[in-house]
Amino acid sequence: MAPCYPSVTSERTFGKPMKPAIRRIKSYVRDTVGESLRVTGLSSPALWAKDQLTIVTFHRVLPPTMLAGYPLPAIAVTPEELDHFVGAFQKYYTVGSLHDMMQLKASGNHAGKPLLAITFDDGQIDNYLFARPVLQSRGVRASFFVVSAAADDGELLWHDRMAFAIHHALAKRSAELNRWLKDLGINAWEVDPVALAVTAAKALTPGERASRVRQLERLAGKPLRPEWDGMMDWNHIRQMLKDGHEIGSHSSSHPILPLVDDETLRKEVEGSRQRMEAQVQQPVISFCYPNGDHDERVVLAVKRAGYAQAVTTRYGINRRLAPPWTLRRIDLQGRYGRDSRGHFVQGALLVRLSGRMPGAR
Ligand SMILES: [Zn+2]
Repeated sequence: MAPCYPSVTSERTFGKPMKPAIRRIKSYVRDTVGESLRVTGLSSPALWAKDQLTIVTFHRVLPPTMLAGYPLPAIAVTPEELDHFVGAFQKYYTVGSLHDMMQLKASGNHAGKPLLAITFDDGQIDNYLFARPVLQSRGVRASFFVVSAAADDGELLWHDRMAFAIHHALAKRSAELNRWLKDLGINAWEVDPVALAVTAAKALTPGERASRVRQLERLAGKPLRPEWDGMMDWNHIRQMLKDGHEIGSHSSSHPILPLVDDETLRKEVEGSRQRMEAQVQQPVISFCYPNGDHDERVVLAVKRAGYAQAVTTRYGINRRLAPPWTLRRIDLQGRYGRDSRGHFVQGALLVRLSGRMPGAR
C-alpha cells in the first residue's frame, strides 16, 4: 500500500539517484511531451475526466525558509506552488471540497467542467497559516483530514517526530543513530535515510514505533520540534469550517489501521468521529485512511461508523460508479508544477492528473 507520504529524497526527487546527463534528458523529454500534450489539448481533463471525480492530495504547505529545514520535503509544497496548482485546477475543473464534489457528482448536475476535490492530510498548523490564505484568495474550498488526538494535545505525528530526530542525529553523525538505523535495515549513507526509516517504521507496532521515536529524541537530548511547527487545534479547525472548508477524520492517532485490534479500530474510526463532532458541532462524513492502509475489515468499520466516503492513497481518478469508501487520489508535489528550469508549467501537471501515469514526473 502506498504511504500517506511518498518515498522521498531530500532533493525533492524520487527513486535512485540518476546520472546528471540522464536526468537532464528525462526532464527535457518530460517537459516537451507534457507541454505538447497540453498545447494540442490531448491532455485536457475535458477529454478524459468527464463524469469522473479527480481528488488531489497535499500535506504540508511551507514557505521556502521552513521547507529548507523540513526533513520530508517531498510531502510539502510552497504557498506559491499551491497557488499555481489551484489556478490550474480552476482553469480545467469545477473545484471544491470532497463533500461538495461528491454531492455534485451524485446530483449529476455538473454539465460543465469535470470535478476535482482538493484534500490536505494530517492537519498541521501550516495548513491554517499558509494553505488557507491561498484558498481564500482563489475563492476555493477544500477538505482537511485531521487527527483528533493531535488536535487535542498538539503533539506532532510520529513520522514528523521521527524525521526531525533522524535529521538532527545525522547532522551530529551519531554512532547510536547508525545502530538504530541498522536495526531497521538501513544504512546512514543511503540516499535518504530519513524517508527510508519512516517508511520502514510503518511495519512496527504502534508501541514499538513510539518507543523508537522516544529513543531517538533522547539521543538528541533536546526538543527537536522547530518553533514554527505544530498542529491545528480545535479553534483553527472551527475557523476552517466557518470559511466553508470541510473537516474530515484522519483517525484518532494515525495508526496503521489493518494492524490494530477490533476495539482499537472502533476507537480510531468511530471514536475520532464522535470526538470531532463534539468539538465542531457538525457532522463529520469523510474519512481518510492513515498512510492509505486499509483492508476489508477497516473499510467495513468506516462504513459502520457512518462515514459517507473515504479516501485512500491509491493513484488514479474515480469513475462515476466507483465505491465511495475506497476513493483514489493523486498526490501532488512541487515538481509536478515546474519544468526542469524551475519555471511554473501546466503540461506535466495535466499528465499527472490524468490518473494514467503513476510514474509521471
Ligand atoms: Zn496521514
